[in-house]
Order: sequence, then C-alpha cells, then structure tokens
Amino acid sequence: MRILIVEDERKTAAYLQKGLSESGFVVDVAHRGDDGLHLALTQEYDVIVLDVMLPARDGWSVLAALRQAGRPTPVLFLTARDAVPDRVKGLELGADDYLVKPFAFSELLARVRSILRRGPSRQPETLRVADLEFDFVRHKATRGGQRLDLTPKEFALLSLLAQRHGEVLSRTLIAEQVWDMHFDSDTNVVDVAVRRLRRKVDDAFAPKLIHTVRGSGYVLEERPV
Ligand code: CA
Repeated sequence: MRILIVEDERKTAAYLQKGLSESGFVVDVAHRGDDGLHLALTQEYDVIVLDVMLPARDGWSVLAALRQAGRPTPVLFLTARDAVPDRVKGLELGADDYLVKPFAFSELLARVRSILRRGPSRQPETLRVADLEFDFVRHKATRGGQRLDLTPKEFALLSLLAQRHGEVLSRTLIAEQVWDMHFDSDTNVVDVAVRRLRRKVDDAFAPKLIHTVRGSGYVLEERPV
C-alpha cells in the first residue's frame, strides 16, 4: 500500500512517514502543495494524507485539481482547527475523511485503515470537459451530444488528454500511457494519432479543444475565442 503525505511541517511529516513506514506502508512525502499535486497526478497512491495549509498551493486547491483531473485517490485531510466550514468544504470537494490537529498517530492510522477498508477507489464513471463527455463504463465519448466514432486507442488517447485537461502532455508520456511503449520522443506516431483524433473531435465542432504546444506536446483545453 502506498501513501502520499503532503505536509509542510517537517517534524510532523517525518513523524508520520516513520510511523506509517513502520506500519508497513510505502510512504512518499511532499512539503509543498504543488509538489504534492504533481506526485498525486503522476504516481499511484492508495491514500493521500493532505494538510490544508501548505505553501505554493493549499490543500483545497490540490484536492480540487486532483478531482478535476478525474483522480479518485482517497484523501484524508488534516485541518488545523475543528471548524465546521472547513470540514464541509473538504468533504464537498471530495475528501474521504478529515482529522483535526493535533492528533495521535494511532488515530491517523485507524482513519487510514478505515479508508482502505472501504475498498479500492473507484474510477469515476463519467467525465465532462466543455461539451465533451465520457462514459467510461460503456467506453463511449460524445461531443455536443453526438457520439464520436473512436477506435480503442483513440478513446484511450482522448481520455488521457481529457482526464488531464489543461496540462501539457509530452509525446513521450502519451506514448507510454496509451501504447505502453517507450518511443523516442521524436517519433511521429503520437502526432499521426492526434491528427486523426482531431478530425473526429475538433473538425466539425467549435471551439477546438486539442492544441499543439510547440516543442512540448499536446493539451486539451477550452480556450477563450
Ligand atoms: Ca501546514
């Protein structure tokens, strides 16, 4: 079981890391919100322990970005005070539980285990970006209500871009995630696939959603006209 701790108080982070490692977890630690979000988006964790007050990006914003990206990883919030609005906000944003500081390590461990007992986190069944909608259960994508006729690879490619919309994805990352292959990044396999995908997703619709970022890769986002 892998746990990510995002906590800027180094002593607390080190103490949690030690305790959770001794309890058999593999633990990563980030001390800033942006670093935590990056890890949460690029690695697979079973639980994320997320402090609210963090430098660079607070816990609310990390959680919101995570859920917006379609990541269902369970989140246990650490709040500094037992304020009801904070708790409500966290749960509304999709946190699974919260713990008020200061807390005993045994309490944290119990909460983490309880989250894990609820079973593996569920992949969200649907996702919507602009007028693009996904039904992951039925493997179906529509734009403006019209069904897109996509091959399985095209569906995987479009899902990846949509799940991480607003984020520039490199050709190397796309090749790894969609084809499970490690191409040289100068290959045009990804470019060819994106070109075909655009014909289906963007040609007959406005605004265009798939954009090329010169020298970097591709991003799916709704840009102001
Ligand atoms: Ca803090």
